[in-house]
Amino acid sequence: MARRGRRAVSVIVLLGAPGAGKGTQAEVLRDRLGLPHVATGDLFRTAFREGTELGREAQRFMAAGQLVPDDITIGMLRERLAAPDAAAGAILDGFPRTAAQAAALDELLLDRATAVDAALLIDVPAEDLVLRLAGRWICEAAGHVYHEVTNPPREAGRCDLDGSRLIQRADDEATTVRARLASQLPALEEVVDHYERAGRLRRVDGRLPIAAVSEALLVALGAESRS
Ligand SMILES: [Zn+2]
Repeated sequence: MARRGRRAVSVIVLLGAPGAGKGTQAEVLRDRLGLPHVATGDLFRTAFREGTELGREAQRFMAAGQLVPDDITIGMLRERLAAPDAAAGAILDGFPRTAAQAAALDELLLDRATAVDAALLIDVPAEDLVLRLAGRWICEAAGHVYHEVTNPPREAGRCDLDGSRLIQRADDEATTVRARLASQLPALEEVVDHYERAGRLRRVDGRLPIAAVSEALLVALGAESRS
């Protein structure tokens, strides 16, 4: 795309709590900016599939029930960013998750004479996240997904498509969701602080409709909106 920007390399970090809509927005940005979407989960899956040295090391930790050390994840990211499709940059999703990882990412990029251009925070208040994550209902027959508020079924408790009963997974119950958020939000705050201090943080109101969030993200990047 012609409008990729003045810089040779554009590394964008997408930040948000679970339920903030990061994955969806990463795909929109990928299409609009012409940069690859680099999600940490995909990095791992590719490294395992291809049996790279880092992939094998990561598997040893996981098999032992341990967290994969940052230097392994950073190594995978280094390899990914060296791929031809990332020559102009990338949209990082799921990394960094801690202040230590953010510092390691700065170092990795410094080695490549670049830096994080912008850290985009899709900001959604914790109670809105609980509502979003806890309101999910799934049909018993085929796993069709509904949401109490944003996508309710026509008839309460019944799947529109096959009429089967809607159930709520234990993971999606409010208490579980609150506990999960309480364990994840402090690290996100650390990362947000890291980029705020570096003057790279851009906050976008994640309570807006999906398309409005996309536009706000593009405006925050200084990329022109097409619609
Ligand atoms: Zn169904």
